[in-house]
Amino acid sequence: MLPRFRNLSLTFKLLLIGFIPILFLLYFSILIYREKSQRVELIGNYVEHVEQSANISELIAELSRERRYSYLFILRDSAYPQVLQHRQRTDSIMRILDKSNDLALKNYTQYTFLDKLSQTRTAIDSSKITTNNVIQYYTDAIFRLNTLASAIPGNTFLKPVYEDLIAQRNLSQMITYFGIIRTNVFNVLYTRKYMLETIFGTLGVFKVYKTYEKEFLLKASPRAAINYNNIKKISDLKTADDYLDSLFATFKFDSTVDARQWWTISTNSLTTLRKEQRALWKSVDTRMREIYEREKGTKSQTLLFLLIAIAFVIAFVAYLVMHIQQSLNNLKRAAIKISKGERGLELKNMPSGIIGELARCIIEIDKNDVSLAHAANEIGKGNFDVTVKPRSDKDLLGISIQKMKIDLQEYASQKERIQKETQDLVYRRDEFFSIASHELKTPVTSLKAYTQLLLMDWKEGEDPQHKKMLERMDMQINKLTSLINDLLDTSKLEKGQLVYHKETFVLNDLVKEIIDDVTITSTHEVVFHSHSNSSVYADRDRIGQVISNFLTNAIKYAPDSREIIVSLKDVDHKVICSVTDYGNGIDPSEQRKIFERFYRISGNNLHTFPGLGLGLFICKEIIEKHGGKIGLKSELGKGSTFYFELPFSN
Ligand code: ADP
Repeated sequence: MLPRFRNLSLTFKLLLIGFIPILFLLYFSILIYREKSQRVELIGNYVEHVEQSANISELIAELSRERRYSYLFILRDSAYPQVLQHRQRTDSIMRILDKSNDLALKNYTQYTFLDKLSQTRTAIDSSKITTNNVIQYYTDAIFRLNTLASAIPGNTFLKPVYEDLIAQRNLSQMITYFGIIRTNVFNVLYTRKYMLETIFGTLGVFKVYKTYEKEFLLKASPRAAINYNNIKKISDLKTADDYLDSLFATFKFDSTVDARQWWTISTNSLTTLRKEQRALWKSVDTRMREIYEREKGTKSQTLLFLLIAIAFVIAFVAYLVMHIQQSLNNLKRAAIKISKGERGLELKNMPSGIIGELARCIIEIDKNDVSLAHAANEIGKGNFDVTVKPRSDKDLLGISIQKMKIDLQEYASQKERIQKETQDLVYRRDEFFSIASHELKTPVTSLKAYTQLLLMDWKEGEDPQHKKMLERMDMQINKLTSLINDLLDTSKLEKGQLVYHKETFVLNDLVKEIIDDVTITSTHEVVFHSHSNSSVYADRDRIGQVISNFLTNAIKYAPDSREIIVSLKDVDHKVICSVTDYGNGIDPSEQRKIFERFYRISGNNLHTFPGLGLGLFICKEIIEKHGGKIGLKSELGKGSTFYFELPFSN
C-alpha cells in the first residue's frame, strides 16, 4: 500500500491531501444538516401537537356540554335537540383529531373510551343508562382527554412558550375540576338531596382546583397572571369563586343562589376560563409557528452556509494544488533548460519555503553557469585577467575552469616563446637564403660564362667527349641558376621587393616562345592548342616564368608520358592558359598545399625529382599580383592540369 502511494504522481497526492478535509467537511455538513432537519421536524411535530391540544380542549368543552344535555335528557326527557347539536360538534372535532399526525393522538379513542361513544349515545337515546353512568362515562373521557392535551415538551428551543404551556395546562386542569364542582353543586342545589355529604365529597376536588389556580398564578407569565386577576375581578368567575369559598368554609348554602343561578354563574365562569385557555393556546401556537418558521429559515441558511463552505474549501484546495503544481512545473522547465545548457529562466513570484529555496538554488546554478561560461569564454580569448572562483572545494566545474586557466596561461606563454623563437628562426633562415642566393649568384654566373666560352672554343675534330661534358656542365649550371633564382625571388617576395615591369603583349606569342625554350632539351612532345590572340598587360618575363614553371613541372613529374598539352582560350574577358600532363596526378588533400612555400609532396618522388618547393609559390604570387587566378585540376593516376587566368589588357 505504502510503496503504491509513494509511486503516485505528486498532483494526485496533493489532490488526495485536499480531498480528505473536503470529505470530513462533507461528512460533518451532512451530520449538521441532518440534526437541523430533525430539529425542524421536531418543532413541526410540536406545532401540530399544540394545534391538536387546542382541538382537544374544544372537544373537552363539547363533551362537557354533551354530558350536561345527555344528563338532562335521561333525567327529565328534555334537551334532546341540544344533545344532537353537541353530538354533531363533538363528532366534527373528533374527525379533525382522527386526521391528525400528532403521535400523542395515536389510538386516542381507545385510551379516552371515546371508541364507546356511539354505544353510550345509543344507550342514552333508548334511556337504558342511568344518569350517574352518563356522568361517569363522559367525566372519565374528559379526564383522559385532559392528560393528552397537557403533554408539555421540555425542549430548550420551546422555552419561550414554556410559561404559557404550563399556564394552559393549569387552566385546563382548573376547567376540569371546576366542571366537577359545578355539576356537583348544581346537582345538590337542584335535587336538594345529600347536600352536606356531596359537598364534603367535593371539598377535595375544590382543593385540587385551588392548587392548580395557585400554580397557574405562580408559573404563568406576568402578562397571563395579571390578565387572569383582572378578568377574575370583573367576571362571574369572582362571584362563583366567592360562593365556593364561603360554601367550603362554612358548609352552608347561600339561600339567595338557586340551582339555575348557580348554573348561569358557573357556565359564565367556565366560558371565561376556556376563553383564557384558548387565548393561551393561540399565543403558544403563534409563537411556536414563529419558532418553526425561524428554524426552517436557519435550516436553509445552514444548508447554504455549508454549501458555500464546501465550495470555498474545494476552490481553495484546487487553487493550492494548481499553485504548487505550477511552481513545480516552472522549476522543472528551468531545470530542463539548465540541463540543456539553455538560458532565460522564468522563475518569478516563487513561493517561500522548500519550493522557493529550490528556485533560488536553480537561479544560483544558472548565475554560476553564466559567470563560469563568461570566464571560460574570456580565458579562451586569452584574457587571463578574469577571476574564476570555485563555489567550494568540491566544485568540479569551477576547479576545472580554474585549472584550465592556469594550464592555458602556461601554454600561451610557452606558445609565445616558441612563436618568437620560430619567428627568429624563420627570419634567420630567410636571411640565410637571401645572403646565400646572393653569394651563390655571382660565382654561378661566372661559371656559366666560362662554360659558354669553353663550349664556343671547342672545334670540330676535338674530343667530342669534352663537348658533351661541357654541355652537361652548362645544363647543371642552368638548374643551379634556376634554383638560386627561385630563392632570390622568394626572398624578394617576402620583403616586398619584387618589382613588375608591366607591358601589353599577346600571350599566345609568349606561350609559343616558352614552349620552344623548354622543349629544346626535352624528349616530351608538347601540343599547343591556341584559341586566343588576346593581349594582356603584365610583366612579360614573370608570366613567362609561370608558364615555364608549369611546363618544367609537367615534364619533371610525368616522366613516363610523352605528351603535354598546352592550351590557350578566352573566356569572359580573360585569357586562360593551361598545361596538362598525364603523370601521376595530385591527391586532393595536397592540391591546396603545393602552392605554399617550400611544400613538396612527400613520397617516392620527393628525392627522385630535384626541387625546393618554391616554383608554384612564386607563380601564385605573380599571378595574384596581376589580378589573376591560379589553380589546378588533377586526378590521382590520371594527370594534372595547371592553369592561370589573366584579364584582357585595356
Ligand atoms: P618543385 O617542383 O621545385 O618541388 P614546385 O613548387 O614547382 O616545386 O612544386 C611543388 C610540388 O608540387 C612538387 O614538389 C610536386 O610534388 C608537385 N607538383 C608540381 N607540379 C606537378 C605536376 N605537374 N604533377 C605532379 N606533381 C606536381
